[in-house]
Amino acid sequence: MNWVFVGASTIASQHMLNAVRKQPGNDVTWVVSTSPDRVGVWAKDHSIANATTNLAEALADPDMQAVYISSTNEKHHAQAMAAIAAGKHVLCEKPLGITQAEAVEMVRAAEAAGVIFGTNHHLRCSGTHRAIRDLIATGRVGKVLSLRIHHAVHLPGHLQGWRINDAGAGGGVIPDIVVHDADVTRFLLQEDPTSVVAQMTSSGMGQGVEDSCMSVWTMPSGAMVMTHESFTHPFAGSGLQVHGTEGSIFANGVMTQQPVGEITLVTGAGTEVIPYSNHDLYVQGVSEFVAASAGQGRPAADGSDGVRSLSVALSVREAAATGQRVDIDYGGF
Ligand code: NDP
Repeated sequence: MNWVFVGASTIASQHMLNAVRKQPGNDVTWVVSTSPDRVGVWAKDHSIANATTNLAEALADPDMQAVYISSTNEKHHAQAMAAIAAGKHVLCEKPLGITQAEAVEMVRAAEAAGVIFGTNHHLRCSGTHRAIRDLIATGRVGKVLSLRIHHAVHLPGHLQGWRINDAGAGGGVIPDIVVHDADVTRFLLQEDPTSVVAQMTSSGMGQGVEDSCMSVWTMPSGAMVMTHESFTHPFAGSGLQVHGTEGSIFANGVMTQQPVGEITLVTGAGTEVIPYSNHDLYVQGVSEFVAASAGQGRPAADGSDGVRSLSVALSVREAAATGQRVDIDYGGF
């Protein structure tokens, strides 16, 4: 497929250009940005043939089949709607939109147009998370009692822009990281949280948006989920633990963009180091999106997954803002 990249962004240059170009027969042919200066430089630096500030111009190219959107979050909805209206398959960054209504409209429009819609939740594409899911699904920990996710990182200097000071652009740790933890929880436990309690704060980095959050989620099975997200923790590391009636999984360093981390399973039989595939997370995600666009399978995370992860995150923010337990409304999904 030929791709239009919308947003001259960090994630596009660091991971997604490579992920598309690793797929046989796929390349990025257009880049679209709001800045005439930056888009030209970006296209040249990344050997992309066409650069424009006019999304409609790129979408009018009949040789384009797919659009990847990695602009700031408030732009996702309008750009996705335009791409869908032009009949292109869409892979959109998380969070899908600022509001649940935006996300629902995008995904319903893609369904009506018959195009593939993917949400770029990379963690469920990793060998580590897939190995953990398999341990749970095959009963190695018995009945899951609890999941603890620690995802408190230190936002690198070059990303300390809109994420920490622009609520209108979708800044804040909740739209940025809680959406990922919601997707991980849904992927690992194969069920959707039903309600949340939460607290959030600004602990030195956030200016007008939260930079840290803790929450507890109720699951239909009775399992309890506890998550911690932050932009301000230089030395905390990341990971998750799954505790069940027959065993516990300790996964350290796995909430990351790289195929790294250590997984151990502890049961009555002792401690076992769990092997996993170290493939590139983004290459895997794009590969599944490309296959789905060719009629094979579904994207690793589809539009419904994107609506659901955003719904959880928005409920966490509401719970933290009000101090009340919030029942999650999935917007019809
Ligand atoms: P960036 O801040 O790098 O880019 C976002 C937008 O900011 C770009 O689209 C561009 O706007 C503008 N921009 C980029 N560089 C500059 C600059 N030097 N000066 C002025 N403006 C600039 O964001 P990220 O790449 O970190 O995030 C983009 C999206 O991807 C977000 O939705 C985020 O949530 C998501 N994301 C997803 C990840 C994942 O693993 N799934 C990981 C990281 C981010 P323009 O559109 O005009 O080109």
